Amino acid sequence: MGIPEIFGSNVFSLAVMKERLPKNVYTEFVDVQENGGMLSSATADTIAEAMKNWAVEKGATHYTHWFQPMTGATAEKHDSFLTVPNEMGYTLLQLSGKKLIMGEPDASSFPSGGLRATSYARGYTAWDITSPAFVKEQSCGTILCIPTVFVSFTGEALDAKTPLLRSMQAVSKEAIRLVRLFGNTTAKKVAAYVGPEQEYFLVDRSKYLQRRDLIYANRTLFGAPAPKGQELDDHYFGAIRERVGAFMADLNVELWKYGITATTQHNEVAPAQHELAPIFATANVAVDQNNLTMETMKRVAEQHDLVCLLHEKPYAGVNGSGKHNNWSLGTDEGENLFDPGDKPEENLQFQLVLACIMRAIDKHADLLRESASDVGNDHRLGAQEAPPAIISIFLGDQLESLVKQIIGGDDELSTDVGGELDTGVSTVPVLKKDATDRNRTSPFAFTGNRFEFRMVGSRDNIAGPNTALNAVMAEAFADAADALEGAEDFEEACKAYIKKTMTDHQRIIFNGDGYSEEWVEEAARRGLPNIKCMVDAIPVLTHDDVVELFERFHIFTKAELEARAEISYENYAKQIGIEAKTMIHLAGKRYIPAIINCTTELAESVATVEAVGCDASVQRARLEQITGYLKQAEAALDNLTKIYQETDALECIACMAKDYRYKVIPAMDALRAPIDAVELMVNKDSWPVPTYGDLMFEV
Ligand code: ADP
Ligand code: MG
Repeated sequence: MGIPEIFGSNVFSLAVMKERLPKNVYTEFVDVQENGGMLSSATADTIAEAMKNWAVEKGATHYTHWFQPMTGATAEKHDSFLTVPNEMGYTLLQLSGKKLIMGEPDASSFPSGGLRATSYARGYTAWDITSPAFVKEQSCGTILCIPTVFVSFTGEALDAKTPLLRSMQAVSKEAIRLVRLFGNTTAKKVAAYVGPEQEYFLVDRSKYLQRRDLIYANRTLFGAPAPKGQELDDHYFGAIRERVGAFMADLNVELWKYGITATTQHNEVAPAQHELAPIFATANVAVDQNNLTMETMKRVAEQHDLVCLLHEKPYAGVNGSGKHNNWSLGTDEGENLFDPGDKPEENLQFQLVLACIMRAIDKHADLLRESASDVGNDHRLGAQEAPPAIISIFLGDQLESLVKQIIGGDDELSTDVGGELDTGVSTVPVLKKDATDRNRTSPFAFTGNRFEFRMVGSRDNIAGPNTALNAVMAEAFADAADALEGAEDFEEACKAYIKKTMTDHQRIIFNGDGYSEEWVEEAARRGLPNIKCMVDAIPVLTHDDVVELFERFHIFTKAELEARAEISYENYAKQIGIEAKTMIHLAGKRYIPAIINCTTELAESVATVEAVGCDASVQRARLEQITGYLKQAEAALDNLTKIYQETDALECIACMAKDYRYKVIPAMDALRAPIDAVELMVNKDSWPVPTYGDLMFEV
C-alpha cells in the first residue's frame, strides 16, 4: 500500500463520517464542531453506532476514552463493546451516544493537586469533538480511542487538554477583535497552529535492560563519557543506519495510519539521537498527535528490539532532547497573522501583531519559562546546548530594524529582505535567500511566518506551553483592541499604540548569542528574569499577574493554578526521589561491590607479583587510587542516603521539592563522580553494566 491508502486509515475522520452518517447528523456534527454547542442525544447515538461499526470493521474489540491527566502521560481504560448475552447466548456489540460523550473513570489515583478530596473521587471524561477518534492496534487488541478532556465533579480541569482548549477559544475571540479593526468582517475564528519537532534517542533493548537507571529514571545516573561524543558533528544529518532506518520506516507507516503527517526525519547532534517532525496542525490536534507520536515511537521501537528514550537528558556530556514548538495564529480564511508579507514596513496589522507579541512575551516571560519546565529539562536550559533559561525574542535583521525604525532609533530601515545568494559555482543556480537567518540560541525565534519556542522538553506534553502562548497573546490582543476600538482616527491611534508598545517592551528583543555569558549579564541589566530551574519556576503559576491573566480569559481559576503548582512540586519531588533511590540501590548493590572486587583482584595481583620478587608498583598505585575513590563513593552513598531520608520525610511539598533540587541533587552528583572515575580504571569485563560507548554506539 502507498501513502494515499495508508494515510488516515485508522482515523474516524470527517470524510469517513460524511460517508457513513445520515446527512442531517453529519451537518449537525460539523456545526457543533465549528461553532460549539451540544449534540442532541439522538445524534450522539447515531454517531456512536457508526463509529463502533467502523471500528469493529477495523478489528476493534474495545473502546476507550483517551485523555491526558496531569501525570505527563496519556491514560486509557479499555471497555469492550460487549453487552449482556440474551438467553440464546447471543451478544450485541454496542456503543451508546452516552458512552461516547461521557465517561467516569475512577479518578482517585490521578493527580488533582487537592482539587478533589478523595471522598469526592469522581472525575469525568468528555469527548473533545474537535479531535478525531482513531483505532490503535496494540498487542492487547485493537482499541477505538475517543479523545476526551478530563474534569472534576465540579468542572475543574484535571488534565492538560481542557485549559488548552479554553486558551484556544480565548485567543480566537481576541484575535478576531484585532482583525476586525483592520476591516476583516468575515473571518469567524483564529486558530493556533503548532508543529512540534520531536527529538529522541534509541538504544538497544538488551543493553537497556541491563541499565536499571534507564529503566527506573529514564536517564543514566552513572557513566563515564565514551571517548567519542558529538565533537565531529558527523552524526547530525548523517546517513541513517539500517536498523534505525527500519524503525523510522515502520514508525512513519504507523503514524500515517493515525493521520499524523510525519514528514521530516534525520539524525540529530548526539550519537543515537534522532528527530521526527510532522506538518503543523491545529494546536489541540497537534497536542493529541504528539502524545500519540511519543507513544507510537516507544511501541515501534520495541518491535525492533530497541527502546526509545524521550527523556531530556539520557546521557551526560552530549546534547539532550527538546521539542521545538513552532507556533502561529491564523484565521479560518487562511490568513497567517504572523506573516509579515513582502513589505512589513507598510503592513500595519502585522506591526500591531508584532507589538502584541513583544508585549505578551515580555510581560509574561516568567510564565513562558515555567511552561517549558519539566524535571528533565533542567539539564538542558542554559547548558549551552539549548536556549538559556532567559526568555527573549529573536526577530532577525529585517524585523529588528523595522522595530527600531518604529521606535524612532536612528537606524536605517534594513532593506535586506532576502535577496540573492551567489555560491560562486557557475553550475549552481543563484538562490533566493530567506529574510532572516536562524538563531538556534534563542528561546523564541521568528522563522519567517511563525515563532519557534525552542525551550520545550522532549518528553513534555506541549499542551502546557501552547496554553501559555495562547493565553498571553489573548491578553495582548484584548488590551490592544480595548485601546483601539472606537478610536477616532484609527490609523493614527494604531501607529501610536504600536510605537508605545514596542518602546515599552524592546528589552525582550535579542538577536545575539544566547549561549554567551555576556547575554546573561546583559539580560540582568535589562531586568529580564533568569529562572534557572523548575522548582524556582513553579511559584510563577500563582503570581498575581498570572492568576489575573488566566482568570480573565477563563483558562484557569486560581484554585486550578494552585493545584497545578502543587502537582508540579509533587512531580519534581517524586522524580528526583526515584533518581536518588535508584542511585542508592545501584551504588550499594552493583557499583561499590564491583569496585571492591576490583580492589581484591588488584591486591591479589600485588601479592602474587611481589611474591616472585617483581615490581608491582603499577598495581599498587592503581589499588591506592581506586581505594581512594571507593572511600569517596562509600561516604557519598551514606550522605545521599541520609539526605534523601531527611528530604523524603518533609511534610511541605514545596519544601521537599526545593530540598531535592538544592540538597539531594548535589549529593547525587557527589556519588556519581568517584564511580565514573573508577569506570575508566578497571577491566571493562568487571564493570557491572553497559557503558556509554555500548549504549550510544551499538544501536
Ligand atoms: P527546522 O528547519 O526548524 O528544523 P522542521 O522542518 O524540522 O524545521 O520543522 C518545522 C515545523 O514547523 C514543522 O512541523 C512545520 O510544519 C512547522 N510549521 C511550518 N509553518 C508553520 C506555521 N505557520 N505554524 C506553525 N508551525 C509551522
Ligand atoms: Mg528541525
